[in-house]
Amino acid sequence: MWIRLLAKTSFFGKNQTKMKYRTYLIFGAPGAGKGTQGKVLGTIPRFFHCACGDVFRSLDTRTPIGQAFLDYSSRGELVPDEITVKLWMAVIGDMVGMHKFKPDLDALILDGIPRNVQQAEIMRDILDVRKVFHLSCPDREALISRLKKRALKENRFDDANEETIRRRLFTYEEESKPVLDFYGPSKVRHIDATQSPVKVTYDILSELITG
Ligand code: AMP
Repeated sequence: MWIRLLAKTSFFGKNQTKMKYRTYLIFGAPGAGKGTQGKVLGTIPRFFHCACGDVFRSLDTRTPIGQAFLDYSSRGELVPDEITVKLWMAVIGDMVGMHKFKPDLDALILDGIPRNVQQAEIMRDILDVRKVFHLSCPDREALISRLKKRALKENRFDDANEETIRRRLFTYEEESKPVLDFYGPSKVRHIDATQSPVKVTYDILSELITG
């Protein structure tokens, strides 16, 4: 409830209380390629990419919120919803304030949030979700191998250990995947994440072009 109030008072401004962000979600298991696709789409004019994991990784780990991120992510768990949504809204509010994200012109490309049904519910009043691109990769072992490679390349501690990776995939199945049902088949588009990155981009672009 308080987050809804926050949404209406702090970030949207008095004259824009009913405005929602036009949004496309990039959705999928860890390792499915959400970040890669999000970054590409974010380079297109009139699209603004925001990855929740990047927001968390940019935090100073000496702050309480930075410490909470370290604690939860190193166990392969999600950071509690209230902390997450509050942080995300503060960051998006800053982006609007700095005119990097212009909600009246730009569409949001979100990756990594909402990550469970509670977050989707909290953000219902904030996001006008047009489509959800589900980067589908049923082969768990392929995901694990991608994540292990990423751990080496990007020095990510949450991808470094196989037990944490498996826990992250379990968290995805249990907590995140139900978000697809929350938005339903009219909005969800399943895209084969095992294709080459350029083909995945092509599939997403084809959907974006049609609205
Ligand atoms: P990612 O880079 O999207 O895989 O996120 C890395 C970690 O950040 C996750 O394993 C979670 O611990 C945390 N995180 C990122 N996004 C969220 C979110 N929407 N809700 C809760 N925790 C999140």
